[in-house]
Amino acid sequence: MACERFAEAHAARGASGAAVILPAPEGRAPPFFSYETPMSDLSAHALTPSWNLSNRAKQITSSAIRDLLKITERPEIISFAGGLPSPTTFPVEAIRAAAVRALADDAQALQYAPTEGYAPLREWIAARHSSNGRRIDPQDVLITTGSQQALDLLGKTLIDPGSKVLVETPTYLGALQSFSMFEPVYGSLACDADGVLPDALDAAAIKGTRLLYLQPNFQNPTGRSMPADRRRALAALADRLPFPIVEDDPYHDLYFDGAEQPTLLSMAPERVVYCGSFSKIFAPGLRVGYVIAPRSLSAKLAQAKQASDLHTPNLNQRIIHEAALDGLFDRHLPAVRAFYAGQRDAMLAALSRDMPEGVTWNQPAGGMFVWLALPAHIDTRALLADAIEENVAFVPGEPFFANDVQRNFMRLSYATVTPARIDEGVGRLAALIRRRIGS
Ligand code: PMP
Repeated sequence: MACERFAEAHAARGASGAAVILPAPEGRAPPFFSYETPMSDLSAHALTPSWNLSNRAKQITSSAIRDLLKITERPEIISFAGGLPSPTTFPVEAIRAAAVRALADDAQALQYAPTEGYAPLREWIAARHSSNGRRIDPQDVLITTGSQQALDLLGKTLIDPGSKVLVETPTYLGALQSFSMFEPVYGSLACDADGVLPDALDAAAIKGTRLLYLQPNFQNPTGRSMPADRRRALAALADRLPFPIVEDDPYHDLYFDGAEQPTLLSMAPERVVYCGSFSKIFAPGLRVGYVIAPRSLSAKLAQAKQASDLHTPNLNQRIIHEAALDGLFDRHLPAVRAFYAGQRDAMLAALSRDMPEGVTWNQPAGGMFVWLALPAHIDTRALLADAIEENVAFVPGEPFFANDVQRNFMRLSYATVTPARIDEGVGRLAALIRRRIGS
């Protein structure tokens, strides 16, 4: 198991057993840059005011990658870096109509609302996740301001400084950013092409852990998915874990090949905390997500949310509910899947045509990302600077590793670039890599 940092973490516990916060290992705490949202204008110096900041805020670092990625918003750059969904998939007319309906009756959609969320939407979500005779209680559904907020609330309610948090290798940078605010120690679990290896959850990993964070579907950043037998093996283990498995599943509906996979939630509802989102299948700007958790935890999450933002925008929740009642999701999703499948095909075709020997990648069966492994001596951070010179961009793999950082990976998003530009961009990238390899 790739959990060497655990040993160090345990060694760093004082004689009293109290956690001693480790100095951030190289690459941790994760740098704060967002490739999932358009870049804001926060420059590095704006992040270091002269006032006394909390220790929490002080550990937030900006990143050289962030400054490079800011440049990638220039129109001449073919950017595979952004994690944004394609706006061509946003059902603008249906949202306009749903907004009119949501505002039709009275002014309630504009009033403060319960923290837990709009009851009819909670019911719709609970029904969608009820299966095989297992019923999800709408009371266990908490609407959040994007699923990103669910990660923050889970950090608030489950993590103390020094708590152990288990993650995949690599994992979603945004989750590391949310959890890191609460100063955990990460355990990076060994993974293969199918996701986390059940054997990695051995006694040493389990000890002292507060949560295990997983993305079974089309993982960000690797695009990999867990086959059904791996899910079953993890769900079978879940009962023995004295902490929840957090199943982060924003790409759930974006499957291209084969059928929808069962969620861990459906297999072990008492042991899994499920985070869902309307961002990738509807519109990320509405900022509506949700978390489904056993009541003992969902009540705590709701208290934490109340302190954060009182509630998720009421109008946006009602828009989504109106659209759901109208059957929009079932009508709209096949087109969204077909769009991203075409994008994936264009990316995979370009990679096989152009990439030199020594570069390998996976075949994502859904989602938005493909993960490239370059020869071990190539540092993709350095490569990014050269790539930008050639007007092409990607996200280096480094920030996605909680520990044991590996530098020869890159994440490519095929969500927003047209197939013709995918061809051109992959061609430029391949030429650069070929030069580095010397082939
Ligand atoms: N989890 C994962 C794995 C993601 O990729 C993202 C966004 N890119 C989120 C959570 C957050 O999504 P949102 O807040 O828009 O629901």
